[in-house]
Amino acid sequence: MAHRRRLLVIGAGPVGLEAALHALPLGYEVRVLEAGRVGENVVSWGHVPMFSPWEMNCSSQGLGILARQGVRPFADGRAAPTGREYVARYLLPLRSCPPLLGIVQERTRVVAVSRDATLKQDRPGDRARALRPFRVLAESGVRQEIHEAEVVLDVSGTYGRARELGNGGIPAPGEKEAATCIDRGVPDLEVPRVAARFAGRTILLVGAGHSAATSAVALAALASRHPRTRILWSFRSTRVPLYPRVPEDPLTRRDALCAGANRLAQGSDPRIEPCPGSFVESIARPRSSARARLEVILKTGGRLRRERVDRIVANVGYTPDASIHSELQVHLCYATCGPIKLAAALLGEDGGDCLSQVQPSADRLSNPEPGFYILGAKSYGRNSTFLIRAGLEQIRTVFAALAGDPRLDLDVARLGHRPKRAGAAAPAVRPPGGDRVPAARG
Ligand SMILES: Cc1cc2nc3c(=O)[nH]c(=O)nc-3n(C[C@H](O)[C@H](O)[C@H](O)COP(=O)(O)OP(=O)(O)OC[C@H]3O[C@@H](n4cnc5c(N)ncnc54)[C@H](O)[C@@H]3O)c2cc1C
Repeated sequence: MAHRRRLLVIGAGPVGLEAALHALPLGYEVRVLEAGRVGENVVSWGHVPMFSPWEMNCSSQGLGILARQGVRPFADGRAAPTGREYVARYLLPLRSCPPLLGIVQERTRVVAVSRDATLKQDRPGDRARALRPFRVLAESGVRQEIHEAEVVLDVSGTYGRARELGNGGIPAPGEKEAATCIDRGVPDLEVPRVAARFAGRTILLVGAGHSAATSAVALAALASRHPRTRILWSFRSTRVPLYPRVPEDPLTRRDALCAGANRLAQGSDPRIEPCPGSFVESIARPRSSARARLEVILKTGGRLRRERVDRIVANVGYTPDASIHSELQVHLCYATCGPIKLAAALLGEDGGDCLSQVQPSADRLSNPEPGFYILGAKSYGRNSTFLIRAGLEQIRTVFAALAGDPRLDLDVARLGHRPKRAGAAAPAVRPPGGDRVPAARG
């Protein structure tokens, strides 16, 4: 009798949850391990309105399952939710109804992934490594356990690992000691307790991505209500405008944000001082100061400038955690830390528009390690242009490859009814020679 192959998903963010949903009708025995709660990272920036509308953030499978439960996450698919609304109205209901009910194990962090009786250096690039199942070490409180699987999808995102803010991407001297005065996300200034930390203070904002743009606009609004607030905005670029606009941008929220941030970056608001071409050299906490102010040295074109600030908002991006798969054969890009083939394709693109990106072919998503895929935001490494929509494409591509059928149409997959091409049981591993290798069970 054919046995079911085991598929383990690391991370229950939007892409991990959708991947699990798409794997089930293909006959896999699916388990999702999530370090926090479902949608943990999205909830962390949940007050921020998303650029992408509802219809871009949800799969037809997910919406179909919810519809059968009488749940309709949105009335207008072209409207964009906040991160929090997206989690509350889509991800959490999905997690809580069949077929995902009971599949996600929350508060369980994956620490490392390896192969049974196989080391990293064994059989380089050989598909026969797939004869042995993956061994996944996970921690839940003080408990540690090993899970086995034939396919592992690492969808653990990058949001958990904020980059350092010092010049050249390493910690600025004093950055560690100043940690309690540094916010690494986009502060929710609508929450009075949070706003009180910033109102009437001098703030250093560092970074020039979309998170920094969101923080700049929010801080400017706060400063208009609390006129003693002063903001120094430090960014490396000297490009004008700072945020290139996409002609007739279909993501209207993105366009409005870029327009607003560009005005601030060009000095339109006297309470925000833009510091283009600048870097944070060091941060110190003078002992003499009654108010715990920080002394920051900024370097601009070889000139040093000393500033006293109360808080720092560091929106300088994120980096993936490669330690999870360091015992596997995964080839990462030395620039972006994403899987090399996808990274090379992304680096070859000229613009930063996340709507017009390379299609994720099966080859681009594959690794030397057979059966191991890095999907979702983590697959883009330090490249911050990832959208959930790209993750949904990746899922389709990977499952078509696993099924050995590039034409596999997951949109016709109905839970409980496997698509015809997928065969009676989840597909076995295909080595390059074309012979089917039965899935190993340890
Ligand atoms: C301010 C902001 C606004 C954004 N707006 C948009 C937008 O409008 N549209 C859009 O498409 N994207 C947007 N993004 C990008 C968005 O974060 C991603 O598209 C989306 O969250 C990626 O989903 P994911 O499942 O790949 O990763 P994540 O959402 O990061 O999920 C990863 C999950 O893995 C878990 N995890 C991490 N490590 C482990 C481990 N070791 N073991 C187990 N679990 C682990 C985490 O807890 C988390 O739940 C935005 C990002 C930010 C910061």
